[in-house]
Amino acid sequence: MSDLYGKSTVHLERMKSFGEDAEKVDVDTDEQMPASSPPASVSPEPSSSAIAGTDASNTCKQGRGKSRGKPGKDDTNSGGKRVSDLPLHGTVVSAHVGRNLNRLGHEGTLHIKGTGRILQSETNGNYVTIHPSKHIQDTRCEDTLKIARKRRPVTVDTSKAKTSLEALKLSIKQLKWKEFPLGRRTACDIYWHGVSFHDNEHIASGQVNKFPGMIEMLRKINLSRAMRTMQELFPEEYDFYPRSWILPEEYQQFFTQIRMVKKNDATVNSTFIVKPDGGSQGDGIYLIRDPGDLKPMAGSQAKQAVVQEYIQKPLLIDKLKFDIRLYVLIKSMEPLEIYIAKEGLTRFCTEPYQEPSQKNLSHVFMHLTNYSLNVHSSNFVHSDSQNTGSKRTLSSVLYRLAAKGVDIKKVWSDIISLVIKTVIAVVPELKVFYQADIPPGKPGPTCFQILGFDILLMKNLKPVLLEVNSNPSMRIEHEQEVAPGVFEYVPSPVDEEVKVGVIRDTLRLMDPGHKKPSVFQMRAGGFEHGGEIPMEAETQERSSDEGGALPSLCLKQVYPKYTKQFNYLRLLERIAVLFIRFLGVKGNMRLGPTAFRTFIRYGTPSICRSLFLPGGSQVQIPVAEGPGTVAAGAVRIPA
Ligand code: ADP
Repeated sequence: MSDLYGKSTVHLERMKSFGEDAEKVDVDTDEQMPASSPPASVSPEPSSSAIAGTDASNTCKQGRGKSRGKPGKDDTNSGGKRVSDLPLHGTVVSAHVGRNLNRLGHEGTLHIKGTGRILQSETNGNYVTIHPSKHIQDTRCEDTLKIARKRRPVTVDTSKAKTSLEALKLSIKQLKWKEFPLGRRTACDIYWHGVSFHDNEHIASGQVNKFPGMIEMLRKINLSRAMRTMQELFPEEYDFYPRSWILPEEYQQFFTQIRMVKKNDATVNSTFIVKPDGGSQGDGIYLIRDPGDLKPMAGSQAKQAVVQEYIQKPLLIDKLKFDIRLYVLIKSMEPLEIYIAKEGLTRFCTEPYQEPSQKNLSHVFMHLTNYSLNVHSSNFVHSDSQNTGSKRTLSSVLYRLAAKGVDIKKVWSDIISLVIKTVIAVVPELKVFYQADIPPGKPGPTCFQILGFDILLMKNLKPVLLEVNSNPSMRIEHEQEVAPGVFEYVPSPVDEEVKVGVIRDTLRLMDPGHKKPSVFQMRAGGFEHGGEIPMEAETQERSSDEGGALPSLCLKQVYPKYTKQFNYLRLLERIAVLFIRFLGVKGNMRLGPTAFRTFIRYGTPSICRSLFLPGGSQVQIPVAEGPGTVAAGAVRIPA
């Protein structure tokens, strides 16, 4: 085990204590296993061993020659209990059955179907075989396992990975998968793109790490629009996004509203932050205190901007403002599956914070947390430690806050809620983009994507969404001034720690060997049934431990896990499905995302008004399920 593994394990164990508890969820069985166990069962090829684990378990379970079990079968034991309900501690004695324990486990004894073997747990938590009979069937299981182990490793095309290449290479190496740095003539299992879905236009199968339309959807203006729509429908639920105006089209509204507020109460002294639409890394951002201070902007592109209420009272550490970079994986859009990395980064300002005043408005090192800006400050502290310096791990900051008596469980659960609600806000339009690029019936890859959420904690600990990055930097080096004015990229242990974990575990979750056909397949613009969604991904989260060779997953499933709490917010998605079905494709004329935006903007209030009943009651609206069918889906309507 490399140092990196050792560090990650210790680190993630620490993370577990706040992340898991905060959510009051079942404890993952894999996470309970000591990282070093069971050495005997570790396959030289993790991906193969994962396949082997699955196949062998099914073979053993079913006692017949099939190499693949039916989807979903692995999730339950004979008593119908979910694996996640079962505590499993200690090491496993029997190497190949060991992996099956995750699926079949009972506390006490385990019957391995079709083999006649019974495993019994000892008081120390280990499992021992107490009826090692029926050698023929055992041998068959082992043969199956050996064949499965020989399966080819998962292939990854890294030729378009750009700045994420270093972290990706390390991840692939840890997984013992096969990298194709120059691409491959035949298809790969996974394609890793550095920028966009369209980095490679010739992919007909496999999985790509970008969704079509994600870049467009997450630009500042489009994100603000999507959040605004949700704020209009669910104002209380979406109060984590600062009030925003889109420039130039809403300049007059902005001007009038702010002047009016000031006229009514002269003591109001709001500050606003202006962000160019296409900008990143703090480029072109400035603060104003009066609408009249908006800078005249030249050029058609430069005119597009978002002006946003500035959060004046952020939480400070060491008197410095900081923000959180959280990595979120959209594992699938249909059905919606969201994972959050338990570890993230925090980026610190380099000049002590003061509430905005006319004097300090232009102090970027005080107000903007961007690493790319602050790295040029003489106060920037490079540190190899995770809990000092200008870039720290999220866990180190949360621990520090916990030590001060902050309820970090509440903070963490508010962050999860913010993430799920934000994803729900962007998915409807994203579906329209997706449909335009990969219409049903056209061969194409499936997509997943890692997003970077930038979150600010207010002084009262409420998380606020600043923006979502479709291409969060996955660089594991940082810029350092090696001589006056000379900058070089040097390895950054904090970045490596967090980012390699996120990429590696994303790959583990996307391992085609683990992929099970979903019960909710995309059916020509269909929508999953409005009812409860089974937590099949829970098992994937657990089963991809590759025999214990790797640290437990740093990605935590939050959706569909929390479907019940958030499903009622997915109202626009139902409308998007109707749009795609009835307007999206009409002969050769396709109405795309812009038309959908207009449709939502002008159509949603009347659609919703006709659906909404007074008093926050429930209505049944049709939910498209597949061609020619509709199913009822309950939507909670805000009062
Ligand atoms: P960019 O994509 O250019 O980084 P952001 O929206 O992330 O743009 O803003 C840059 C920085 O400005 C953030 O990291 C944060 O420190 C600060 N910031 C952005 N919006 C707000 C806000 N509404 N209130 C307070 N600070 C903000």
